[in-house]
Amino acid sequence: MGESVSRNFIERIIDCDIESGKNGGAVVTRFPPEPNGYLHIGHAKSINLNFGLARQYGGRCHLRFDDTNPVKEDMEYINSIMEDIRWLGFDWGEHLYFASSYFDQLYQWAVDLIRAGKAYVDDSSVEEIRAARGTLTEPGTESPFRNRPVEENLDLFRRMKEGEFPDGSKVLRAKIDMAAPNLNMRDPIMYRILHTEHPKTGRKWCIYPMYDWAHGLEDAIEGITHSVCTLEFEDHRPLYDWFIDQLPGVHHPQQIEFARLNIDCTVMSKRKLLQLVTERFVDGWDDPRMPTVCGLRRRGFTPESIKEFCDKIGVSKVDSTVHFSFLEFCLRTDLNRRAQRRMAVLRPLKLTITNYPEDKTEWMEAENNPEDANAGTRLLPFSRHLYIEQDDFRTEAPNKKYFRLAPGKEIRLKHAYYIRCERFETDNEGNVTEVFCTYDPQSRGGWTEDGRVVKGTAHWVSAAHALKAEVRLYDRLFTAEEPGRRTGNFLDDLNPHSLEVITDAWIEPSLAEAAPEEPFQFLRLGYFVADRKDHSKETPVFNRSVSLKESFTKEVLGGSQTSK
Ligand code: ATP
Ligand code: MG
Repeated sequence: MGESVSRNFIERIIDCDIESGKNGGAVVTRFPPEPNGYLHIGHAKSINLNFGLARQYGGRCHLRFDDTNPVKEDMEYINSIMEDIRWLGFDWGEHLYFASSYFDQLYQWAVDLIRAGKAYVDDSSVEEIRAARGTLTEPGTESPFRNRPVEENLDLFRRMKEGEFPDGSKVLRAKIDMAAPNLNMRDPIMYRILHTEHPKTGRKWCIYPMYDWAHGLEDAIEGITHSVCTLEFEDHRPLYDWFIDQLPGVHHPQQIEFARLNIDCTVMSKRKLLQLVTERFVDGWDDPRMPTVCGLRRRGFTPESIKEFCDKIGVSKVDSTVHFSFLEFCLRTDLNRRAQRRMAVLRPLKLTITNYPEDKTEWMEAENNPEDANAGTRLLPFSRHLYIEQDDFRTEAPNKKYFRLAPGKEIRLKHAYYIRCERFETDNEGNVTEVFCTYDPQSRGGWTEDGRVVKGTAHWVSAAHALKAEVRLYDRLFTAEEPGRRTGNFLDDLNPHSLEVITDAWIEPSLAEAAPEEPFQFLRLGYFVADRKDHSKETPVFNRSVSLKESFTKEVLGGSQTSK
């Protein structure tokens, strides 16, 4: 299977398993989200890895909703997760599963453990259990209920299930070892009582399995061969193994841990993302500043750029933080190939060409994408009254290296003519209101026969033909590399300037045809996308996806990853 040097450690494990004939050579992976939030870029890494491995080895990848906690779960999350995975380009086929459909089997296995003297009903409260757990240096204390007779445990557990006891009054615990060095092995809780309706099973259950009890067994039930998960579950692996070993004949998946993805200037915990949404620091889960898959999508990220990002950062066993700018680099590379070029002026300044006839319009041919020979051309209207970018004009050239427009200076208007600035007008406060130029009729298309050199090129739109648009400029949601590090509260590092809305931008008329989610490069300004929700022909709305150039070049040149 290719050269082993370029293979990551997970692929090498799978290669060995296939060679040794383990699992009959099968590769079955899964992506097991808890439906308690929207997917983020970290999940995308896991999705790309699990679905990618299945694809690469001709196996399959299951989508399993780990819906063991009914309190925080919601159909909205289930639907959004499925939509996001499909959008990323992956498909679980018929392999859609819910942990809740294994509740009967899990209950049966819990009864088996009780029968074997390996689980007991504990009347202690969760607080008492926690207090008796001990520490890394001190063993825990055994519960007074630990040695209940098997028959009594069976009876109590059945009555727990039948709803006889209130929430929190009893739990079922595994009987392992209160002195185990690994805290996860100190008689972990398997079931708790929760008189709560579940989105899938309704009121059928009032006891719910704990994640650690259910998770490994869910993989076992589905015949998962390689349970790929993040490093924080390394310490839980002995417990998952213990549960499976107590149940004769149950398939034993192999758990492999990798480092979770962290990105600077962002937060990835679902709790924090939910807080940003509910406290309205952002405009929903799909706000283009969110690191959620739907947020990135709305920002204009493409599935290809996210896949490229995940492939490039690779998988490892060492925690690391990847720069957000590397994600942007992947998008920029992708859009450079695919996005058509257009002209738009975000901060308009009126420009009049005094020697151009008032009633004349010329249609200038403009290439759609110099990176793509098949992208063709379009026609741009040119006339006497234009808009240019305020930034492209100064009342005085500051130095010899200034190549933009100023009185006496000549520049090229992209796809049109050379123009020379003659004069300008200001309002009472001295703000420039209009610039007056002459054009050289011999310079059509942007060059002259005399070979005169003009260094500056400006973008423009024809005032009479341009369409008004709303343009949303996004920046990092947080100003600190690690939000919350300074004060302990991640909200203290919110970037107050993460969104700037421009309501009076002008865009070239061909953009009337832009479809929601269609990407463009606005010349000299960056890559933009027609907003998925708010854009229409009547009210064009574009989001800036990424700037044209790296503003953190140093970081990218210094490598995509830095170890903490
Ligand atoms: P929480 O914020 O509650 O800790 P979670 O990250 O555990 O959420 P899950 O829904 O349990 O969310 O995640 C589903 C899968 O995605 C898990 O297998 C998990 O290992 C993986 N995953 C989650 N976050 C990341 C990340 N940052 N990098 C890589 N994989 C991740
Ligand atoms: Mg989790």
